[in-house]
Amino acid sequence: MTLALDERRLAMLREMGLRLLPPASPTTAASLAATPETEVGAGALLPALGAEKQHEAPARHDPEPLRAPQSPAAPLVARVVDDRAGLGWDELRTAVAACTACGLSGTRRQTVFGAGPARADWMVIGDPPDEHEDAQGEPFAGPPGQLLDSMLRAIGLDRQRNVSIANVLKCRAPAGRNPEPQEAAQCESFLRRQVELVQPRIILVMGRFAVQTLLRTQEPIGRLRGRPHEYQGVPVVVTYHPAYLLRNLADKGKAWADLCLAMDLMDGRG
Ligand code: SF4
Repeated sequence: MTLALDERRLAMLREMGLRLLPPASPTTAASLAATPETEVGAGALLPALGAEKQHEAPARHDPEPLRAPQSPAAPLVARVVDDRAGLGWDELRTAVAACTACGLSGTRRQTVFGAGPARADWMVIGDPPDEHEDAQGEPFAGPPGQLLDSMLRAIGLDRQRNVSIANVLKCRAPAGRNPEPQEAAQCESFLRRQVELVQPRIILVMGRFAVQTLLRTQEPIGRLRGRPHEYQGVPVVVTYHPAYLLRNLADKGKAWADLCLAMDLMDGRG
């Protein structure tokens, strides 16, 4: 991946709150963690920002499991009959709003369908709804949503205009737990149909649960990022969830590298 630091990309780094360091100064993870803004070395740029931090008090969007893996990638139990294939946008939205196919329908405040234009080259898929999203019915709400908007702005995208956004599941799991594999299986065809309708040229997947569910793996994000994957024939780039990045500023640099990979793939350079 080529990371030419032209003015456009420098402006993008500023948008994400990243600051460039002199090339000769290797940046340590410790110094990154101590700075209010993440600083980025100009030499061996973002991927070389240092070993991943070991984070205390993990939360749901952390890249590593909260507890014993729930195997979102395990063979999906009792593969669900896909009665959502062929639905148009309006029918799909109505079907999601009325869905009681899994137990999460009993604990949600509302479904979180998705946002953005009906067709878009870029699609962002995130973890199941958190409390902000559950309350507002919008994907990537609250402070994580604001950071996502900054990240999208940094690469010339706007969720109202040219990027489609969705959650991997449409309902919040209670008490901050992750959805069970059966719940993910029940919900999968909604997302599959959304991807068919949006027809993205690239998908950015943010957050451990979303990544592992979509790619049917239990590998951590740290071992999956930096190379393209695929979902329904569409190139996929994985990265950290903005909620995680808000708590772990040092990893913003890695998220920037992931955005660069996605842009390179879009430009045919990946
Ligand atoms: S999580 Fe998905 S399958 Fe379960 S009730 Fe909500 S919309 Fe339906």
